[in-house]
Amino acid sequence: MDDLSIKNGSVWTGTRHERADVAVKDGTIVAVGLEPRPAAAVYDAAGRFVNPGFIDPHVHFDLDLGRLRSADDFRSGSIAAAFGGVTTFVDFLAPTDDEHDLERAYHARLEEAEDAVVDYRFHATIKNPKGDPEAYVRKMLSLGMTTLKLFTTYSDSGRRTSDDQIERLLDLSERYGFTILAHIEDDSMITMKDSYGPKDLPRSRPAAGETAEALKLAGFVEKHGGTLYMVHLSSGATLDALRDRYPHLLNRKFFIESCPHYFAFTADALSRPDGFLYTMSPALRTAAERDRLAEGFSDVYAIGTDHCPFSRAEKEHDRLRDIPMGIGGVEHAYAVLSARFGDAVIPKMTEHPALINGLADRKGRIAVGCDADLAIVRPVRERIVSDHSRGCTVWTGTDVTARIEATILRGAFAVRDGRFLGTKGNYVGRKPMI
Ligand SMILES: [Zn+2]
Repeated sequence: MDDLSIKNGSVWTGTRHERADVAVKDGTIVAVGLEPRPAAAVYDAAGRFVNPGFIDPHVHFDLDLGRLRSADDFRSGSIAAAFGGVTTFVDFLAPTDDEHDLERAYHARLEEAEDAVVDYRFHATIKNPKGDPEAYVRKMLSLGMTTLKLFTTYSDSGRRTSDDQIERLLDLSERYGFTILAHIEDDSMITMKDSYGPKDLPRSRPAAGETAEALKLAGFVEKHGGTLYMVHLSSGATLDALRDRYPHLLNRKFFIESCPHYFAFTADALSRPDGFLYTMSPALRTAAERDRLAEGFSDVYAIGTDHCPFSRAEKEHDRLRDIPMGIGGVEHAYAVLSARFGDAVIPKMTEHPALINGLADRKGRIAVGCDADLAIVRPVRERIVSDHSRGCTVWTGTDVTARIEATILRGAFAVRDGRFLGTKGNYVGRKPMI
């Protein structure tokens, strides 16, 4: 007998919703169809959409910024994720530049993440190693990590990877088959003055800096090969420029991630009295930029939230340089984006991030043999009224058309009818790649 049957729902097939039941045993999907099967428990999903559990490939729980830490630890952040139908997230290791520090960072992060309530894995994060980065890459692969984050900016905190090292890493990506994640902003175009307030953020970090850096990195991919994933793309102009110059590489060799806030808000929010709440890096853009990004939504490969909230007191400063960058979003990405883009958002939050992050054998699809990770969605017109993150939120009051009614992690209810039911997340590792 099966452990659980999700009956009468409209089940996501990968391209559309179809009427089917989903049978679960030992945490795994064992059947999808209309043939009756006995089950110990039944969940009636009539009138509901049954989606694969969402994968958020970009969160910062328990992020150490020296004088501050992001507001959510792994437990509170992953509970918020579960309320948003997210059953797997990918967080980051602390930035390192040699293989020994990388291994230490990996074990330290595993310990920090132990309290997560949904499944997770990590991106390695590289600074700017002095010599050949091959030993670093080989260590990463031996630890079962397949994604490596780098920054083209933040030279002031020593996190910027130089162009020649990025080119070397792309050679290594081509050779070993891992994926490079890049924060794309031209470091030389970023300015910061004491006089800058929240409304100056787009001037401090201009869209043109993102476009220039994205084109440069796409050019590196054309020259060296490798696989590149551009995180948190903020500007429609950047997307248009990439599509115009590199249509043969777009979403084949380099991939685009964007975030819910770049579709929901514009830089106008930064001029409000509470504009400090809308500060993140890269910055919010003009309405015209935002609309161009939305028009290009089909070319956005994956949605990550870049979830990195702080408390209101930590954000509330007049001077831009005193405000920690980042907002929350892990709980509301699906509701916010599906209201705007419908089902087109589903692959970008399931199958695509699964493929990028080496999770596709078990996560991101409703298919026999996959983990029984499901987000059961009730179509409803309502306004977001609650947020389970510990940070302050900008999302309450947003109109949405979907509510997560239940989140199922490997066959167990993480969230049901507005209550968290106490699941335990697992680290989803890979066998060493070398
Ligand atoms: Zn981030």
